[in-house]
Amino acid sequence: MASEENFMRAPAPTPKRTIYTEAMEIFHRAADLIGLDKRVRLELEEPDYEHIFYVTAKLKDRLVPLAPEQARDFADLQITQVRNPEGMERLADGKIILNGRALLGSDVSIRRGHLRLPDGNVYQLVPGESQRFKAYRVQHNQARGPYKGGIRYHREVSLDLFKALAAEMTWKTAISEVPFGGGKGGIQIDPRSYGKEEMENITLRFMYKLKSLIGPNIDIPAPDVGTNGDIMALMYRQYSDGEREKHNMRGIVTGKDVRIGGSEGRAAATGQGVAFCIEDYYAEKGETLKGKTFILQGFGNVGSHGAAILQRMGARLLAVNDADGSIYNGDGIDVPALLAYVNDPKNLRRSVLGFPGAQRIEKKDFWEVQADMCIPAALGGEITADIAERLKVKLIAEGANGPTTPEADRVLQKRGIDMIPDIIANAGGVTVSYYEWIQNKRMERWSEAEVNQRLEHAMKRNYRIIRDISRNQARRSDTHDSRPYCIGKEVDPRCAAMILALKRIEAHYLLEGFSQ
Ligand code: NAD
Repeated sequence: MASEENFMRAPAPTPKRTIYTEAMEIFHRAADLIGLDKRVRLELEEPDYEHIFYVTAKLKDRLVPLAPEQARDFADLQITQVRNPEGMERLADGKIILNGRALLGSDVSIRRGHLRLPDGNVYQLVPGESQRFKAYRVQHNQARGPYKGGIRYHREVSLDLFKALAAEMTWKTAISEVPFGGGKGGIQIDPRSYGKEEMENITLRFMYKLKSLIGPNIDIPAPDVGTNGDIMALMYRQYSDGEREKHNMRGIVTGKDVRIGGSEGRAAATGQGVAFCIEDYYAEKGETLKGKTFILQGFGNVGSHGAAILQRMGARLLAVNDADGSIYNGDGIDVPALLAYVNDPKNLRRSVLGFPGAQRIEKKDFWEVQADMCIPAALGGEITADIAERLKVKLIAEGANGPTTPEADRVLQKRGIDMIPDIIANAGGVTVSYYEWIQNKRMERWSEAEVNQRLEHAMKRNYRIIRDISRNQARRSDTHDSRPYCIGKEVDPRCAAMILALKRIEAHYLLEGFSQ
């Protein structure tokens, strides 16, 4: 048996490779290259705060479909005619939530807790129970301003992942020159397996617990994977509930609906920013997007808006992969038609699969479609070294956060595939979040044209600085000044972006010092 002494001894440090350590590789490389101040490095290597807490909710009664072999036991069960089908909410996993008095007034035939619906299937009635969910908020750094970053609702989240995403926000806010730091958080949950009211209750409880940790000048959440403007509205309501100066608190979250203080152009901003970077990439070569082709992973907020904008600029979408599968059309996929298909309420999984304007292909074939560009706009770690070897594109513009692994990055460099890294490519979202936050503070409302004009200038200015750092081409033009950032030698674009971020953050510590 182990002695007490052994229990007390700290385990020997084993350098473990995690999502966070992988994501920080580029930080260390850039920090070495610029000789980042040692104390600043220590401040940035780990987050300021890592919060983990739990949210509980009472779930509703559900109808759970039986497998065909089990359903045979109920072959003679009468069909239950539902008087109020509105009360039934179908979920992506095939289950049905019973809202309120869904079955009241209906002719119900129940046997041993089972009933048959007009769709022919037999369902088991499962009473709603309480469930606990793990929630997170990582506040990485606030040297340049309040923590800022999205709220993710997804099954595969962890402290390690949120640390990586929060750090990314610190770099991104510095690159976009918005006066924020970095944060990220969310709940370990598959939102597609819960009803609308359940998600509302879970979100309200989440904000109830988060409230003491955040504020419009402290930490400002926004939408990310699995959340949207509706979730932000609930978060605002819960944060400001009962407060006398509610109207002064709209800046607690960004990505709100424009009717309640959101900014024009925010919903499309991340995809718009990706498109501005790509446009500038080609403009420098004297080319436009006309006739260019692309493949896209993820058809959510970033992917669908990005694709629609690129199509309007003249590019052709050849293939899409999402959580459920992949589709292909060599003549081009009609983006507005695909959007209508995905948003059709009958499409419970919100998937591109089954879109009539394209054929289904395997995921491995998706990565091998020949095109000018690949836009990953889903989850992190998707472009592995193996996929990087197989890609048949000339440019990758990272809409998602961290889609390319460090090994894949090295393969892409070796193969001469150009890269617009995430911390600039998808910075449009946080940039317009900043515009939303200012509008809330000033009680103003800017037009979409004004927002997009500012966004275009900001994205292109900072992207040009990154390109100059990468090529070691220090210069001042009408639009940008890269002289303070070039380091006297060439570096890859991801490293260049990180150098820009670190130099901007370091200035705060060097000039303002460290609070004691
Ligand atoms: P979303 O939830 O709206 O859409 C996610 C999309 O990814 C969906 O189409 C989904 O089917 C797909 N997907 C999920 N898992 C997948 C898998 N395993 N394989 C293939 N596809 C999968 O999310 P979003 O807001 O568009 O965010 C997408 C990415 O962009 C994330 O990495 C996010 O962090 C990043 N991002 C988002 C914003 C923003 O403003 N929303 C800003 C910056 C970065």
